[in-house]
Amino acid sequence: MNIMSGMRLTFAEIYIKNFEANVKAIKKFVKPEVKICCSVKADAYGHGAVPCAKAAVKCGADFLAVATVGEGIELREAKIKAPILLLSYCSPSEMADLVKFNITPFVGDEEYIGLVEAAAKKAAKASQAQKAAAKKFAVHLAVDSGMGRVGCLPSDAAALAKRIASSKCLCLGGMCTHFASADGTSARDRSYAKKQRDAFAAAVESVKACGINPGIVHASASAALMDKPEWQFDMVRPGIILYGYYPDKITEKYLRAKKTPLVVKPVMALVTGISALRPFKKGMSVSYGSTWTAAKDTTIGVLPIGYADGLLRRQAGSLKVSVGGKLYPVRGRICMDQCMVDLGSAKGIKRFDRAVVFGPKESGALLTADDLANAAGTISYEILTCIGKRVERVLVK
Ligand SMILES: *Cc1c(COP(=O)(O)O)cnc(C)c1O
Repeated sequence: MNIMSGMRLTFAEIYIKNFEANVKAIKKFVKPEVKICCSVKADAYGHGAVPCAKAAVKCGADFLAVATVGEGIELREAKIKAPILLLSYCSPSEMADLVKFNITPFVGDEEYIGLVEAAAKKAAKASQAQKAAAKKFAVHLAVDSGMGRVGCLPSDAAALAKRIASSKCLCLGGMCTHFASADGTSARDRSYAKKQRDAFAAAVESVKACGINPGIVHASASAALMDKPEWQFDMVRPGIILYGYYPDKITEKYLRAKKTPLVVKPVMALVTGISALRPFKKGMSVSYGSTWTAAKDTTIGVLPIGYADGLLRRQAGSLKVSVGGKLYPVRGRICMDQCMVDLGSAKGIKRFDRAVVFGPKESGALLTADDLANAAGTISYEILTCIGKRVERVLVK
């Protein structure tokens, strides 16, 4: 990305110390024997996969998790040696790279296991010369206990585990599941999560009953990790809490009331600046559709940030940015590359001053990604992962 010496007014600051503090807080929170798999999928939820993965490993992460084979290769090419889990299914054409880059897939059916096995076999044949290195390729058997996404039915787990254990090229490295409603606190959410947990635990037992070691058993993402300490099994898979946000109802306040607080801090600040100050007369309007017209004289600041940078068009009307420790409202429609902020008298504000959309307090932000998400009817995950590619990520040491 660094093809120019200058810098846009719009960029994202990554407070990597906050990320490290979050990993350490999670490590302290879970039982000492429980392994940690840090989810760095989607470019570490928009924060930059390589620096976050390196920081996670430095702070004691045992595993990393990605969503695509390309994301895994990016980590390997950055010389990251930690085991990597692939959380989604990939295409057959990507499977040679799974083996080549030692990325551990979730498997959940005969057909997919057969395809992975064929890729592992081919790689083993090619490396026949170094026979000593002929190690079996590990897969994790995913159990669909109620998410309806990846994995086998709990009743099929034992047969598939046998299929893997009897393979010449594959071995069972672990068993896992994913909860659909661990981030809710309603009676329905709770009983659904408990049913999933019980179905998964029974599937693990059914594999053990065949004399097969299930390997590393894991189920909990951020929500269950915090809310259900008794479901941590051998490993947990935190994602959003690494980046300083809580999943839906499992908030810091909720955990405090339960006397099990886990305090995490936001890692990213989305920063822009005032590219122009425009004195506005009453009756002048801004942006496409002229949906906002000044009811009195004011000052409009032009911000070089738009929906191609990750603002959501539907935030028009609710978005505010922090300038010099005060919040000012964005007016009119958000454009692809720019939007306009109403600075009133603009007292004490200069052209090119910093404006912060969201972030940790130390960035000058007065809002978090959660505040933006609530106003736009979405979740912090979407706000963070929508930050565009052209927004440079700048590490704050
Ligand atoms: C994304 C993901 C996680 C992490 O989820 P968070 O809610 O961000 O903690 C864990 N496991 C799986 C299978 C996932 O897809």
